[in-house]
Amino acid sequence: MNSFDQALLRQLDQIEAAGLRRHLRRVDSAQAARIVVDGKPLLNFSSNDYLGLANHSALKEAAQKAVEEFGAGSGASRLICGSLRIHHELEETLAAFKGTEAALTFSTGYATALGTIAALLGKDDLIIVDKLVHACVVDAARLAGAKLRAFRHNDLNDLEAKLKWAASSRIAHPASRILVVTESVFSMDGDLAPLREIVELKDRHGAWLMLDEAHATGLYGENRRGVAEAFDLADRIEIQMGTLGKALGSGGGYIAGTRALIDVLLNRARSFIFSTAPVPAQAGAARAAIELIQSSEGESLRQRLWQRVDQTKNAVINAGWPLPPAQSAILPLLIGPEDRAMDLAASLRAAGLFVPAIRYPTVARGAARLRLTVTAAHSAEDIAELQRALQNKHLVNRDS
Ligand code: PMP
Repeated sequence: MNSFDQALLRQLDQIEAAGLRRHLRRVDSAQAARIVVDGKPLLNFSSNDYLGLANHSALKEAAQKAVEEFGAGSGASRLICGSLRIHHELEETLAAFKGTEAALTFSTGYATALGTIAALLGKDDLIIVDKLVHACVVDAARLAGAKLRAFRHNDLNDLEAKLKWAASSRIAHPASRILVVTESVFSMDGDLAPLREIVELKDRHGAWLMLDEAHATGLYGENRRGVAEAFDLADRIEIQMGTLGKALGSGGGYIAGTRALIDVLLNRARSFIFSTAPVPAQAGAARAAIELIQSSEGESLRQRLWQRVDQTKNAVINAGWPLPPAQSAILPLLIGPEDRAMDLAASLRAAGLFVPAIRYPTVARGAARLRLTVTAAHSAEDIAELQRALQNKHLVNRDS
């Protein structure tokens, strides 16, 4: 074995010794309530495909049509010859859907945060993030070189303290920008940000707000634009971000906002400029999803989702598991120690259920959990099966 592999194997040993080694599971079926994982059929409570659109015929047909018309690949970056009509149509549809002047799409949500934050901030700027924001925001802040502070999760007093710190730091550099970043629905906890108060605070302290609606787009608000719409705050949020790979069933990320914001991003966001444009199928499917969620079918799917969420909450509580108050389709069963969460997930898998254990570094050390996600594709019987599995004495006695 060469020294390169020896060094990497030592690194893997350390990850293993810390109990944090990860492995890929091979899924042999399309996204659905029941999937085949490593050859075994499992009832799936792990997907972000909240409305069951990832394998919906309307999205698949739109993807196929996009392939027929534009081919399998986009050929180049958007600023060279890869800016296909289908990307423009998707962005026009997105801007109309979000009620903004313009929108820009990226290959992934991760690339969206990275490109956007680093395009807007530099080393003299300040970024204040909720402690639980997604890794893409933290990585973006580091890439931008901005001064980073995290406020305690959803803690408005701590946010205000950080905003005061930022305002005082601005005295030395009056042109410094101050950006607050939070999620509307937190990806690993399923709770909502106190958005109205955050908007008030950032306005009072002369900061901008970037809101990641990854787990909210398509699900909240009268026009399903997200939590900002539900709270009637969209016009007061400078940068609205979201993803196309969760409730919208395709893939990619977007920024919706003013024309000036979008023009700065397409001139400065390096993850946009230096990357091949998303494949036509991805854009076609995302556009079909935005149309679908605004239709009556979309409305019934959304109603079904919230009904299933309520049923699942009851099932979990009836099975004797505490559940923090959540207003989303993400229900965390907080466990604590990493190994215990892993054991529980393995026991559930043996019983035919896929509920993933989430552990460090995705969440803090010692805050491991089972992250249960509900979708409109689940049936009442699926939820009853979950309750039976969670009630299983063997499962509870073994791990409590
Ligand atoms: N933001 C949040 C809150 C997320 O949960 C995720 C993905 N899990 C992302 C951004 C990144 O999006 P993508 O998966 O499209 O890269």
